[in-house]
Amino acid sequence: TDPGRIRNFCIIAHIDHGKSTLADRMLQLTGVVDARQMRDQYLDRMDIERERGITIKSQAVRMPWTVREGDLKGEAAVLNMIDTPGHVDFTYEVSRSLAACEGAVLLVDAAQGIEAQTLANLYLALENDLHVIPVLNKIDLPAAQPDKYAEELAHLIGGRPEDCLRVSGKTGEGVPHLLDEIVRQFTPPKGEAQAPARAMIFDSVYDVYRGVVTYVRVVDGRIEARDRIKMMSTGAVHELLELGVISPEMQKAQALGVGEVGYLITGVKDVRQSRVGDTVTINSRPASEALGGYKDPKPMVYSGLYPIDGSDYPDLRDALDKLKLNDAALSYEPETSAALGFGFRCGFLGLLHLEIIRERLEREFGLDLISTAPNVVYRVLMEDATEHVVTNPSEYPTGKVAEVYEPVVRATVLTPNDYVGAVMELCQGRRGTLLGMDYLSADRVELRYTLPLAEIIFDFFDQLKSRTKGYASLDYEPSGEQKADLVKVDILLHGEAVDAFSAIVHKDKAYNYGVTIAAKLRNLIPRQQFEVPIQAAIGNRVIARETIRAIRKDVLAKCYGGDITRKRKLLEKQKEGKKRMKMVGRVEVPQEAFIAALSTS
Ligand code: GDP
Ligand code: MG
Repeated sequence: TDPGRIRNFCIIAHIDHGKSTLADRMLQLTGVVDARQMRDQYLDRMDIERERGITIKSQAVRMPWTVREGDLKGEAAVLNMIDTPGHVDFTYEVSRSLAACEGAVLLVDAAQGIEAQTLANLYLALENDLHVIPVLNKIDLPAAQPDKYAEELAHLIGGRPEDCLRVSGKTGEGVPHLLDEIVRQFTPPKGEAQAPARAMIFDSVYDVYRGVVTYVRVVDGRIEARDRIKMMSTGAVHELLELGVISPEMQKAQALGVGEVGYLITGVKDVRQSRVGDTVTINSRPASEALGGYKDPKPMVYSGLYPIDGSDYPDLRDALDKLKLNDAALSYEPETSAALGFGFRCGFLGLLHLEIIRERLEREFGLDLISTAPNVVYRVLMEDATEHVVTNPSEYPTGKVAEVYEPVVRATVLTPNDYVGAVMELCQGRRGTLLGMDYLSADRVELRYTLPLAEIIFDFFDQLKSRTKGYASLDYEPSGEQKADLVKVDILLHGEAVDAFSAIVHKDKAYNYGVTIAAKLRNLIPRQQFEVPIQAAIGNRVIARETIRAIRKDVLAKCYGGDITRKRKLLEKQKEGKKRMKMVGRVEVPQEAFIAALSTS
């Protein structure tokens, strides 16, 4: 394809503002998907995406479009559209998609206006030097206020309100015009056709039948179907089995040239061999310099995952290995817990990522899992100048701690004026520091805070929504670390610490945490033959205490002199029950008690 006819663009928006629906209309209008094949959110291919109505993986699709009106009428173009996920956990997917485009369609729900991720995505697009077309969507809604929000958008981007396009992804109104404008406003890709090939990997996915499918955008040169390709970061060379474009499914092609977006298949089984952000070149005539750098996504949140049935442990390991093939951001290593047995400490990009992995493990691999309360990564400096990176609270170093650092984020909250007080109260209660406040319009306020990541991952979003009747939106990005007054709280059963309940919390919240967990356990753990104290402690200092009173449960008492088979049956029954008991020191605890205590916290 002549690069002059290509336009590479993405659609960016706050979640639910209609990206996937607009993508559907484009697929239909360009004839890539016909009415018979059409289903809603066509590009959301994973079951979880379809059920939750969210996009998790980016998608690229090639569409032919002949301009219908205006000065370029009749021009035949090739559009490569990349649909991106909207959730904060997946921002890294958005940023790498942007790097493959020249333009971005910034979509805003005309009944909602600008939201926190509208801003975050716009800034990402501008950082990547993309041309932005502002578009108001859902103009078919009776509640739509396109005039009002066109003003807001123009103010934000620095254009004129009349330059905001107006569409309905649902009815298709305005979409042909938008496609025309994409051809007119976005620049075609620039690249050296004669130079050694360079293509950027913006996604790679493991497919059970085909191995790793690598999505690339060719920047310079040309990759042909019979080439041997080379990964520039590792120097690894792979035979190409197939290459092609996606329209809307994979279609084989002979070659991919300058500016083209498509896929490569090498038969490799591990997505880590095909790292997102890496540059692909050709082995026989390699490029000397890779394309711009790319940072590996770093896990932000950790949680222990344990099979409820201990014999599922090998299956859990296999399942994690398989998911990892698809998800370079997932990390895990084996861990044992006195309370929960064998499991894995897993690292995630955020809570949604955790939830999705957990749900996939349960659904796609039939595992029953328990996960420990998520925690962030702490850096602990000791008085003897050694340093520990703590991803599991129960491994918090003992000895003299000098300083503890916790990760912080820069959060942006957009809220109607009326709820500014409620939002501030919430952020202050979560140890936030106000960085600034701006009025986007007379009744819409942007608040910027530095907040500890640990405070955001526990029901912050739910609290924000409920305190603002659902009107506020949130976006955040990592912003380094800060020194904090943190302590490790242990929960002791009869003097033994229960690892799964150790937590690192702010000094002011330690008491509250201790009391809550101790009370919960008292109600969940059955009485034993002896009195069992439950204590919450910081080091040696007990900060809360509950007691489980003793009972004398002598099962054999009623059988004295009775028949021996009945005795044996009773003993066997007890043994059965014991299997699912965990010993913490001398205390027998049914695993269900741990599970119940963890799942409701
Ligand atoms: P995404 O999260 O940005 O991909 O948003 P979706 O495309 O999944 O859309 C979110 C919701 O808005 C869905 O219920 C859509 O049916 C609805 N929606 C999307 N576009 C329109 C539109 O133009 N008009 C109306 N009335 N609803 C829309
Ligand atoms: Mg979507």
